Amino acid sequence: MLRENYEAVDRRVAEACRRAGRDRSEVTLVAVSKTKPATDILEVYQSGVRDFGENKVQELTEKYGVLPDDIRWHLIGHLQRNKVKYLPGKTCLIHSVDSLRLAMEIETIYAAADMECDILLEVNVAEEESKYGVKASEVYDLAKQIAELPHVHIRGLMTIAPYTEDPESNRKYFRELRQLAVDIQSKKPHNICMDELSMGMTGDFEVAIEEGATIVRVGTGIFGERNYNIN
Ligand SMILES: *Cc1c(COP(=O)(O)O)cnc(C)c1O
Repeated sequence: MLRENYEAVDRRVAEACRRAGRDRSEVTLVAVSKTKPATDILEVYQSGVRDFGENKVQELTEKYGVLPDDIRWHLIGHLQRNKVKYLPGKTCLIHSVDSLRLAMEIETIYAAADMECDILLEVNVAEEESKYGVKASEVYDLAKQIAELPHVHIRGLMTIAPYTEDPESNRKYFRELRQLAVDIQSKKPHNICMDELSMGMTGDFEVAIEEGATIVRVGTGIFGERNYNIN
């Protein structure tokens, strides 16, 4: 069942790449497993997926402890500074950095562990009140400050587009995120790389791929609906 879901999503990713004239290898499909049990994750793992996304540190570290070592765990949810200490060695990429204070805590913790940390800057492109993330107009200044931190490496940008029934309505936000990355890259800043664009979820990942996503984060489309009451 989950294998079929995953294979259907993977085919849609491949088709969106073909439509956009992109190679399938340019897009990483992150299976968002929040609230889902290890048994479900293993089923998707056995279908060939190695990238999984969690939005809570505790859930990520618990699953890290019981699931195969070759899983790449992505932290995609809002991160509190007091939780950073649990992350070194357990996550391949933090998608949700949106303040200098948080980046400085990551620097302190990873420097102490003698490790480096790859991050994305979360941008609230649509400027929704309810969302975390920095405004597009503030990203470059924040990136330059974070770039001074030797153990923190900015790999690109992430956004959570508005919830919508019509994926086309999010195209402008994906395009804006991509343009922002292009603009920043053109300044060739030190210790800032804009190769990764994490954008697109179950409802809109194909449009995101057409607009340049390199990472799509798909939960419901693979694992089914989440039930927050039970989990
Ligand atoms: C839950 C979540 C997703 C996946 O959402 P779906 O609509 O279930 O695909 C993607 N990104 C973030 C940041 C999330 O919290």
